[in-house]
Amino acid sequence: MDLKELYRDVILDHNKRPRNFGRLEPPAHSARGHNPLCGDQLTIYATLDGEVVSELRFEGSGCAISVASASLMTEAVRGKTRAEIGRLFGLVHDLLTRSDAPAPAELGKLAALSGVHGFPARVKCASLCWHTLNAALEGAGVPVSTE
Ligand code: ZN
Repeated sequence: MDLKELYRDVILDHNKRPRNFGRLEPPAHSARGHNPLCGDQLTIYATLDGEVVSELRFEGSGCAISVASASLMTEAVRGKTRAEIGRLFGLVHDLLTRSDAPAPAELGKLAALSGVHGFPARVKCASLCWHTLNAALEGAGVPVSTE
């Protein structure tokens, strides 16, 4: 199995069996995100313990990339600080938009999203959950739209 097939299998698995799917009740932070280009809709719930995201869930519906990306994100950022999450988002954004280089090791399973590079219309599908998480952590309360 080559890397491309492995990555595809990770995406398909997380789309079929999303991790941390569900909701958290207030006082957990939450935000809604919408990608009108594709129809993806997500709500992200996050519990902060000081600066650390201690619990994270999401619900919603969308294409395989948006659901798999959100599922992978919830696994990747739980237990991390807001600053660490910001840095991780930067790496994911690079991976999605411009990098042909191998994914940095610290991305872990998020590297499976590298196949999105080369499909510009899908970048918003994959990044929607990250923008929505940012909004939830900032407590802006304004729905996120990728438009
Ligand atoms: Zn989508």
